[in-house]
Amino acid sequence: MTARLPFPTAAARELGNAQLRANLHRATRTIRGKRERMVAELPDWEALRVAGAAVKDDVLARLPELLEEFEAAATAAGAQVHWARDAAEAGRVVTDLVRRTGADQVVKIKSMATQEIGLNETLEAAGIEAIETDLAELIVQLAGDTPSHILVPAIHYNRTQIREIFARRMPGVDLATLTDDPPALAEAARRHLRERFLSARVAISGANFAVARTGTLVVVESEGNGRMCLTLPETMISVVGVEKIVSTFQDLEIFLQLLPRSSTGERMNPYTSMWTGVTPGDGPRQLHIVLLDNGRADTLADPVGRQALRCIRCSACLNVCPVYERVGGHAYGSVYPGPIGAILSPQLTGPRAGANRTLPYASTLCGACFDACPVRIDIPQVLVHLRQRGVDEARRRPSAERAAMGAMSWVMRDRRRYAAALRAARRAAAPVRLAAGRRGTVRRLPWPLAGWTASRDAPVPPRQSFRDWWLTRPDGGTGPHDDSAGPHEDGRTRSG
Ligand code: SF4
Repeated sequence: MTARLPFPTAAARELGNAQLRANLHRATRTIRGKRERMVAELPDWEALRVAGAAVKDDVLARLPELLEEFEAAATAAGAQVHWARDAAEAGRVVTDLVRRTGADQVVKIKSMATQEIGLNETLEAAGIEAIETDLAELIVQLAGDTPSHILVPAIHYNRTQIREIFARRMPGVDLATLTDDPPALAEAARRHLRERFLSARVAISGANFAVARTGTLVVVESEGNGRMCLTLPETMISVVGVEKIVSTFQDLEIFLQLLPRSSTGERMNPYTSMWTGVTPGDGPRQLHIVLLDNGRADTLADPVGRQALRCIRCSACLNVCPVYERVGGHAYGSVYPGPIGAILSPQLTGPRAGANRTLPYASTLCGACFDACPVRIDIPQVLVHLRQRGVDEARRRPSAERAAMGAMSWVMRDRRRYAAALRAARRAAAPVRLAAGRRGTVRRLPWPLAGWTASRDAPVPPRQSFRDWWLTRPDGGTGPHDDSAGPHEDGRTRSG
């Protein structure tokens, strides 16, 4: 789950896609509006947010104890609990479990934890086909693509594009009835998936929550496919990040109010499925729960960064983020895109972060994500914290930026040096002023300033500094203010 490209490179590529920007703008604006209306309905929304944050913080403070409580309760109810330190270990555990059943095909409910560990690819390498049953995940899988949004993985496609994907890639699809009407597309997906559900012997899920007191897993979704996965297959394997624990059902109640309003702008989830162990004659005969760390313990150790583990994956922060709206999820190159991805992914990958290190810079720090977050994760604070950490880590490594800052610091420590440098810079800027002409801005500066004009125009440097102009006033800058002595547009003063 480490990005292949640094964020600025990937974002520049995505920004060139006008269709993507139009699709994202339309979709995020619609979800934003719905969310705002649903949140405004609740007079105690702020109190709920505070409660949600407090419950999650309590969980993080008592995580080992609650995980043991969960394991004991789940085991007593007939589940088998496995522990996985990282993606490779989790992949091995799940692959072995599927192999033991003799199945070469599994159905899956949308699960970010399994995306995080690249489970589909691991299973494919072992000769096991994983079929996504969430409609949006299915679209992305058929397109050979990766999700672009936490909750609406196919947000970057419009319905005409989805029809084309179905027509080209969905086996046995009836082209005569396949239009780009949402009901026609949903019907085609339903027919396709029904056959897979009826033949699958193994299902794989994630979980939105895990209740420690009872060993119960909870999945909230809107299509009912998760419930099909829970009902028909003989073996159920749930891969659950350790931070998904809540202590009791009373705590769960808070999140079942916060999550639907923040995610899809609904009062409640269409389907909330809960399962505890196994019951003879009802549901799966074997239930395996894989508790996944994969960088969470390290994240927990950071007193500022750990608040990212409160996340309930509602995606509200993505839908309000001006950066996400323009570049989409693929630019982040990580399973978790948008503001939460910018703080969670580099922490989970830790020392292996690679291009994920650039993600904390994928933000304007406008703070909209914090306002929208139902569990009050102070995303801007964590972004600044991670940027600071990056700077600290690089402090001893030489870089062009560090050399430039060192030179600037030397110049600015002495007033005369600073004034002389400004005069030299203004003289050097003469050709730039000439090139800008009457426009007043420069579209492209040469290296090493090219980075500045890569995504914005630069203002033309003035001919004279304010300090120099002040000193040319008749009284030498010591008398009362006189506007009539202000500089001409060309930089000359009236007195000069
Ligand atoms: S960080 Fe907050 S707003 Fe963003 S997905 Fe997580 S819970 Fe939702």
